[in-house]
Amino acid sequence: MSVYAVADAPGIRVHVADLGMACCAVEFAAALGRGLLVEAPDDGEPSARVLVVSGTVTDVLAPSVLAAWEALPAPKAAMSFGACSNTGGPYWDSYSVTKGVDQVIPVHSYVPGCPPRPEALIDAIVELAASA
Ligand code: SF4
Repeated sequence: MSVYAVADAPGIRVHVADLGMACCAVEFAAALGRGLLVEAPDDGEPSARVLVVSGTVTDVLAPSVLAAWEALPAPKAAMSFGACSNTGGPYWDSYSVTKGVDQVIPVHSYVPGCPPRPEALIDAIVELAASA
């Protein structure tokens, strides 16, 4: 798990477990590369603790997603980032693809898009922090 501050709202610090399983994961890296999210010290209770699931969840990977969710201390929230994680996306009719990560874990934030833009990741993090 990593600690980040939102660059435009430095009061928001989030602990993020990033499960990047396909191309949407690049957008998380883009948010870091563009400085929208910046690394922060782990020196206190975060604004939110978030599991970000980005990319294509398969039935084989689903138990690992569940284990990552269960390992995250409460209070916590799960973000489904992108069409694949939300519904299976372009691969929804594949025999091996889970038709939405909410079949595996509770999801608190759905971010649409294939892929969503990095700004959408930031917006979702800010919303989760506000509702935490
Ligand atoms: S939603 Fe689109 S960009 Fe994201 S992992 Fe699926 S295919 Fe790739």
